[in-house]
Amino acid sequence: MSHLCACGCGTEVVTPLSPLDWRLTFDGVTITINPSIGNWSLPCRSHYVIKQGLIHWAGDWSDEQIAEGRRRDLLAKRQKQAPSSSPNPIPAPATRRGILRRLRNWLKKFSAYSIVG
Ligand SMILES: [Zn+2]
Repeated sequence: MSHLCACGCGTEVVTPLSPLDWRLTFDGVTITINPSIGNWSLPCRSHYVIKQGLIHWAGDWSDEQIAEGRRRDLLAKRQKQAPSSSPNPIPAPATRRGILRRLRNWLKKFSAYSIVG
């Protein structure tokens, strides 16, 4: 989903909604978006929380805080996206080499036959 930046600069801010990104809760009247929205890539660098339809300003973050927040996000995502077993296992290279060898042998036989014949 997207909304216009709360500071009024008019920039469209996109907040992907998923358990790994932002969670939107609607209590029947108002919406709440968690966690806070930090527009660090925008010139306004606004940072706020939308809670029960109201903007709560969260204040500017230092570059260290932003880096730390991003690192934590990445770690959380990596932990949730654990590698799963592949549903289509790649055929063993030995098998493929076997087919190639057989094909080469067959071609050799064929060319030998053509020369003799
Ligand atoms: Zn803004």
